[in-house]
Amino acid sequence: MCEQTPIVIIGGGMAGIMAARTLKEKGYQDILIVDKSRSVGGRMATRRIEDGKVDHGAQFFTARTEKFQTFINDWIKEGSVKNWFGDKYHRYISTRGMNSFAKKLAEDISVRLETRIAAIMRNEDGYTLVTDHGESFNAKAVLVTVPAPQAKALLQSEGLQLDTKFLHKLDEIVFQPCLVGLFDLEQPTSLPVDGHLDSGLPEGVMRLVDHKKKGISPNTTVCIYMTSEWSKIHYDKGEEAVLEKMKEITSAYFDFNSVISSQLKKWRYAEATQFLREPFLNTELEYPLLVAGDAFLDPQDTANRTRLESAFISGIAAGEELAALLK
Ligand SMILES: Cc1cc2nc3c(=O)[nH]c(=O)nc-3n(C[C@H](O)[C@H](O)[C@H](O)COP(=O)(O)OP(=O)(O)OC[C@H]3O[C@@H](n4cnc5c(N)ncnc54)[C@H](O)[C@@H]3O)c2cc1C
Repeated sequence: MCEQTPIVIIGGGMAGIMAARTLKEKGYQDILIVDKSRSVGGRMATRRIEDGKVDHGAQFFTARTEKFQTFINDWIKEGSVKNWFGDKYHRYISTRGMNSFAKKLAEDISVRLETRIAAIMRNEDGYTLVTDHGESFNAKAVLVTVPAPQAKALLQSEGLQLDTKFLHKLDEIVFQPCLVGLFDLEQPTSLPVDGHLDSGLPEGVMRLVDHKKKGISPNTTVCIYMTSEWSKIHYDKGEEAVLEKMKEITSAYFDFNSVISSQLKKWRYAEATQFLREPFLNTELEYPLLVAGDAFLDPQDTANRTRLESAFISGIAAGEELAALLK
């Protein structure tokens, strides 16, 4: 069966959600977000461990633009976001875990989960999106917000016949992986009172987080974020061996004799070290087909890094462009 929705957004992370919210604000109601995962949020990811929680993707957001700051201030008033730490640059967190905030942002948007788009093809009135289970969706306009290497795989399908120059632009974006160890501990940790440490750490370790001290978990659930170099070297090694290595390196901070459970999260596309200085790309085909996401930075962006704020700005810019093209 083929479903008809005028606007389909592939990917329900921050960029996809903000694009949908923008289109709604501009009067477009028939929008569908399609995401391969069990929840919206993408790299705004939270996992339950027993009665506790861990944010195992993005830990916090920072705001350098007025647009994002105003947005955050509204959610602070509403109670969903609070300042975690930091005087000059505040690190804001979702009070119930990153993923619940993503769900809240997407609550008025139609979403189809556990649906992976495998191909995009042209048809007479726009596009047909085909899932890896053979289901299909017809759309007049499509926005792709999956990480650039995955976007390229979708956009190079023969039926689209995109210019190779366009596809090469996506090759300019280079993502790095990140391995994250998730541990549920019986004993408290020696991390600072806010539960966050990202300096003076052993080689290979990027960040340590205690979610009980962070205020989102009743249990001592911790995350160990490894650097991209370390993650690259260990990416294909077995889970047990990688977790053992992480325990060895960080034993000064945690009592691993009290581990209740442990698991490994592998992010193949965590942060882009090479990105584009355009908030989205337009394929300029007859029917709108745009690409956006955190690696599409606004030319005015001063942080020079991919993050939740860059995804937020990119999603809004792509939503505005789609609305203009559909007029
Ligand atoms: C370990 C880690 C730590 C981080 N820490 C921070 C931090 O502390 N602060 C910060 O600001 N940023 C941080 N980031 C970066 C931040 O999470 C991202 O910049 C932001 O979430 C990206 O949003 P996005 O919408 O562009 O992409 P994503 O969140 O990746 O969303 C893309 C979505 O597309 C879906 N998808 C992919 N392929 C398909 C397909 N074929 N069909 C359907 N759906 C598909 C995915 O399931 C996903 O939901 C971190 C990222 C990681 C991984």
